[in-house]
Amino acid sequence: MSDGNPVADCLFCRIVAKEIPAEVVRETDTTLAFRDIHPQAPTHVLVVPKAHYPNAAALAVGDPVQAAAVLAEAGEVAAQEKIAESGYRMIFNTGEGAGQTVFHAHVHVLGGKGSLHGAL
Ligand code: IMP
Repeated sequence: MSDGNPVADCLFCRIVAKEIPAEVVRETDTTLAFRDIHPQAPTHVLVVPKAHYPNAAALAVGDPVQAAAVLAEAGEVAAQEKIAESGYRMIFNTGEGAGQTVFHAHVHVLGGKGSLHGAL
C-alpha cells in the first residue's frame, strides 16, 4: 500500500517535483493540474495529487481529503478553461486493462467542442 511518499521513477512525481517540465494550469498545496501531452479533446488537463498513490481509489482510501481536493480542482480547471457550462468529462483510468499508463493517481478533465460524445 502506497503511503503518499514520492516514488523515484514515477513520471507524475517528477512533474510535481518540477524535474520534468509540464504546462501547469493550476497549482495548490496538495494538487497540480497540467495539460496532457497527447490531448484527446480541445481541453485535456490532468489533475494529480502531489502525494503518490497508484490510482484514484487508493488515494481516496489513503488520503480522502486530498482525493476531494483533486475533484474540487478538476471543477476549478473546468471553470478556468471555460468548459464548465457546456459540460466536461472526468475520467479515472484504473488498471492497465482500462488503459492506465501512469500509476500515479490522476483525473483527466476533458471538454470543448465535439468532445462529449464518447462511448461512455
Ligand atoms: P492514463 O493513460 O489514464 O494513465 O493517462 C496518462 C496520461 O498521461 C496520458 O493521457 C498521457 O498522454 C499523459 N502523459 C504522459 N506523459 C506526459 C507528460 O510528460 N506530460 C503530460 N502528460 C503526459
